Amino acid sequence: MAPIKTAKDFIAAVHNRQFPISCHFELTYQCNMHCIHCYIVRKKTAELTTGEIVTYLKQLKNAGCLHLIFTGGEPFLRKDIFEILEHARSLDFDIRIFTNGTLIDKRAAIKIRKIVPSAVEISLYGFKNTHEKVTRMQGSFAKTINAIAKLIEMGVNVLVKTTVLQYNVHELWKLRQFVKHTLKAQFLDSKGLYRIFPCDDASTGPLHHALSDLQMKHYIEDGLYRHQPMRSSNKLLNIDPNLPLCGAGRRVSNITPYGQLNPCVRLRFNNGNSLKRASFIRIWCDNKLFKSLRASRMRDRKHCRGCPSLSYCSYCPSYTYFETGSFLTTSSELCRQARIQKEVYEKWSQKHGENRTSSLSVQKI
Ligand code: SF4
Ligand code: SF4
Repeated sequence: MAPIKTAKDFIAAVHNRQFPISCHFELTYQCNMHCIHCYIVRKKTAELTTGEIVTYLKQLKNAGCLHLIFTGGEPFLRKDIFEILEHARSLDFDIRIFTNGTLIDKRAAIKIRKIVPSAVEISLYGFKNTHEKVTRMQGSFAKTINAIAKLIEMGVNVLVKTTVLQYNVHELWKLRQFVKHTLKAQFLDSKGLYRIFPCDDASTGPLHHALSDLQMKHYIEDGLYRHQPMRSSNKLLNIDPNLPLCGAGRRVSNITPYGQLNPCVRLRFNNGNSLKRASFIRIWCDNKLFKSLRASRMRDRKHCRGCPSLSYCSYCPSYTYFETGSFLTTSSELCRQARIQKEVYEKWSQKHGENRTSSLSVQKI
């Protein structure tokens, strides 16, 4: 193995050796908001106890995990949340917390500071009316804004993020300015913002809130022409046919509040992957679905061969798995996104004289 000199070398090494370097640990599916695009399906099954969570944290540590994302539902609804966070801190994980912020007052903010998370990510869907239309919780905007302010006051690194929906796309530029200049927080710009996922039981309710074709086209155009930070994320994808599909089950994992271990927070199943029956490392190494996902390569996407939008497609096997039960097929939602990206980019390229024809490696898939 080549010597590890930079962070990039390190990431490449762990990727090839399939270390579960990062885990999305969902602590509860209980939530005090009722977001219209939520994909979670609550079961009657009991959620993990503090003891079980502590056991799995130790197993993650022993398996080589470095980075934990604690999420929910709303993780601060758990009475033992600080016990869990302190335990994770004692094991020296890099900790990130995803929350809606509504339960974070000054006392909680002080306790969070003591945990020294690398970031607390808080969702904000728009200004008051829009935010509360999405969260379906009156008063949630003020509570979330208050949490952002308290955490910043404590010196905690806060990242404000959003999901682009039909109802908020018109005010996102103003929201971005508000977050940066009034709240003095960072706003997460990312290419995946307009991605909405189906529910865990494969029902497609959340997709009804996704951008229409025209809205998505305008949103991507806006990113290209106005919001400089988003420009780089929309570049033509150069796909090596020998690459694995993504990091799911190779360097990322997900643990649900019911104790299922999944390859990714978006790619879930229920087949021999309960941590109540087998240890983290046994499932990670031996589970058939994890193995078959790892063995899959970009060249195995036979249904994508010859696709005119291939080089604009941000392929995610969770979409195809939800729609067809396979990692290697296509998905109507993915294809729609890629087609719109292509249309916008080709128009941009013509106008600016850039050559964005597909590369040879893309054609080989
Ligand atoms: S591409 Fe999809 S399945 Fe793969 S890691 Fe990303 S979200 Fe998970
Ligand atoms: S747009 Fe559809 S067919 Fe084309 S590469 Fe993506 S998933 Fe495959």
